[in-house]
Amino acid sequence: MAQQFLEMPDSQGFFGEYGGQILPPELKAVMDGINDAYEQVRKTAAFQGELADLYAHYVGRPSPIFYARRLSDRQGGAHIHLKREDLNHTGAHKINHCLGEALLAKHMGKTKVLAETGAGQHGVALASACALVGIECEIHMGEVDIAKEHPNVTKMKILGARLVPVTRGTRTLKDAVDSAFEEYMLDPVHFFYAIGSVVGPHPFPKMVRDFQSIVGREARAQFLAEHQRLPDVVMACVGGGSNAMGIFTEFLPDADVQLVGVEPAGRGLDTPDHAATMTLGTKGAIHGFICYNLQDEKGEPLPVYSIASGLDYPGVGPQHCYLKDVGRVQYESVTDDECLDAFMALSRTEGIIPALESAHALAYAMKLAKTLPPEQNILVNLSGRGDKDADFVAQHLGL
Ligand SMILES: *Cc1c(COP(=O)(O)O)cnc(C)c1O
Repeated sequence: MAQQFLEMPDSQGFFGEYGGQILPPELKAVMDGINDAYEQVRKTAAFQGELADLYAHYVGRPSPIFYARRLSDRQGGAHIHLKREDLNHTGAHKINHCLGEALLAKHMGKTKVLAETGAGQHGVALASACALVGIECEIHMGEVDIAKEHPNVTKMKILGARLVPVTRGTRTLKDAVDSAFEEYMLDPVHFFYAIGSVVGPHPFPKMVRDFQSIVGREARAQFLAEHQRLPDVVMACVGGGSNAMGIFTEFLPDADVQLVGVEPAGRGLDTPDHAATMTLGTKGAIHGFICYNLQDEKGEPLPVYSIASGLDYPGVGPQHCYLKDVGRVQYESVTDDECLDAFMALSRTEGIIPALESAHALAYAMKLAKTLPPEQNILVNLSGRGDKDADFVAQHLGL
């Protein structure tokens, strides 16, 4: 089974029954072109060398693994270790795949990279990568989100991205997706739509996973070198699922390493205010691929919610769906309140302010640690830093 994990997806982009390309023929042809170009360059020393150089000298890789001693002591039980993706340039794991996508777009001679953004995290990472690589960047963002996420909007402008405010519908992420997609369809041969997670049509779930898999390759080697053994549990939050696939991939063949993905239960799984796609979703199509979905009877995506805006997506990466079905990865969820507790606990025991997204993984790690013996180790992918969330949390908790 181990080898089978590493050979996925198949040539049609399927992970078991999930993934694929649910697209009109002209777009399928464009996606196949991207796949061909990717498969060609990924094998070249020039492309891998350029990416490795940028990971080292631009992103600041390898990111360290930090043993959270005071947090572990406070919880009791297993030791909690953090893979510090929050220390990357631009503050999260997203830069790992944005660099790969920008380099590929440049290599293919594309004239413009475009994307939507919700809270602006994908927009800022992509705008940074495009500035670095030297390619035009256009970001579509809902007017409501523009008003809410001012620092990220300012950063994107400074970085030279063209910001397109979306004024239709709910003026949030959903409409920004439609707007960016319409722009893309004007000239898909020359434009490159940079998807922000391991979602969308083939080859994006594969490509984004490959670009993120540096996280797990580093983490496995670092942990072995430091402890002469592998961690017992590896944990990550799951929105679309890119940081989780990033750290899981290298551990997939290690049958003894338990892998856990943590989703947002929001205000509770018994309320409509959550984004627990793996836990409560049903199989269906969304944004050009098949996955577990939070959808109504007509197959339309339901409104989703999380205190962490990076996690509120009604679909999820196809490889996660497969890994759930075969039982290799276990999916759990934590509420907003548990997330906030973890956010404050890490800040006050270790002096590390985590992103609210990452605090979901940490919250479940803190719960699980208490049930395990002290000689066991939990490795959490700390996907990003919480500067962006600090004002909101302070206001929310009345600090
Ligand atoms: C965007 C984001 C996520 C969620 O995206 P995935 O594709 O599920 O990894 C998680 N953490 C941080 C810090 C983010 O910015």
